[in-house]
Amino acid sequence: MSVTFELPESHRTHQEAVRQFCEEEVEPHVDAYEKEGTFPIEVVNRVAEAGFHGVQYSTDYDGLGLDYLSYAITIEEISRSWKLLAGTASIAGSLVGYPINEFGAEWQREEWLKKICSGTWIPALALTEPNAGSDAASLETTANRDGDEYVLDGQKVWTTNGSIADFLVVAARTGEGEDHNGVSLLGIPNPQSRDGITFVREIPCMEGDTAIETELRFDRVHIPAENVIGDRGRGFRYVMEGLDIGRIGTAAQGVGVAQAAFDASRQFADTREQFGQPIREFQGISFKLADMATEIEASRLLTYSAAAKRDRGARVTTEAAMAKTKATDVAMDVATEAVQIHGSRGYSKEYPVERHMRVAKGMQIYEGTNEINRLVIANRLYE
Ligand SMILES: Cc1cc2nc3c(=O)[nH]c(=O)nc-3n(C[C@H](O)[C@H](O)[C@H](O)COP(=O)(O)OP(=O)(O)OC[C@H]3O[C@@H](n4cnc5c(N)ncnc54)[C@H](O)[C@@H]3O)c2cc1C
Repeated sequence: MSVTFELPESHRTHQEAVRQFCEEEVEPHVDAYEKEGTFPIEVVNRVAEAGFHGVQYSTDYDGLGLDYLSYAITIEEISRSWKLLAGTASIAGSLVGYPINEFGAEWQREEWLKKICSGTWIPALALTEPNAGSDAASLETTANRDGDEYVLDGQKVWTTNGSIADFLVVAARTGEGEDHNGVSLLGIPNPQSRDGITFVREIPCMEGDTAIETELRFDRVHIPAENVIGDRGRGFRYVMEGLDIGRIGTAAQGVGVAQAAFDASRQFADTREQFGQPIREFQGISFKLADMATEIEASRLLTYSAAAKRDRGARVTTEAAMAKTKATDVAMDVATEAVQIHGSRGYSKEYPVERHMRVAKGMQIYEGTNEINRLVIANRLYE
């Protein structure tokens, strides 16, 4: 009996379509934006309009109506061209889109999810706070009930795309308990025009000036009570479920970045000559390439496997954590070796591999650091 791990025909077709889109609509713009250091809103909008912010959501809500495996493939291909755009697509498709799709009211899916899937809105998730990072359940932002409204007070950091977002999902304490049981999710359309929301600063980060990482303050922001997503006090559980999907997305980002770093290295090693021969003919280089290719394939299989299991309706907390940890550690290792293979050129900003190395580091930190993901895996080993 032969065993094959190839993608089904339908998924290969989708993969080719996303690849072609990225080659035509994304790659021609990367260098200019990275040089300028500006957020590429026009390119992000094009990706969103192509449906890549809502791949696995129903066509009823302007999604593509595909599955989680297609979501993973989409994020991987976008990341291979430009990780910045894959991160934005993954947030829309998982951390923000998932709780609304799974637990939100029908009107929230009609009004909010539709705008996210169609690309009308760029969304953001505000969970992390100065005193609540890995221990996210200890967050201090409060949303106190006042008649038909909640009044939101607090501070958030590292909200990706926070200052340009058309829609924020904010995790806040609504009083049901001191621990994770007291957290709810609130949706805030058009945050930029709302009284009491201050975009304090953009946090300069290793990814460079194209990335938008925001610090936010909420001072007595009035939110209609109906904007709570799902049940009050269950928001932390919703975030954790959304993170299962987000971690598949981050794993796919890792695979895409690693593949891009490998592709650049393979080509460079073929054309760069020293001692009268292409450097790929030195075993010290060819073994690096062999290890890179092997590790990327292992990461891809873990990522696809987690997505396919989710498509069968199962919870994938362990599998998503494994895929995220492996694929982002591999992305970091592969990108570091890619810089080494490129020698001094790899260290310059004139070749893409230094960017791959910088963005890979971020992926080991967000959506749960890889230490926290190892904790998630370890905690389930004896269940
Ligand atoms: C590029 C980027 C984008 C991000 N985007 C968003 C976003 O859109 N929305 C959002 O809400 N947040 C976002 N974050 C925040 C991110 O989720 C947090 O940075 C992350 O959860 C870690 O929190 P922290 O930075 O406070 O680190 P800390 O929790 O302070 O951790 C510091 C170190 O201690 C380790 N550590 C902590 N606890 C344990 C433990 N129990 N066992 C072992 N080691 C431990 C960590 O692994 C880390 O190495 C983003 C972060 C980055 C870098």
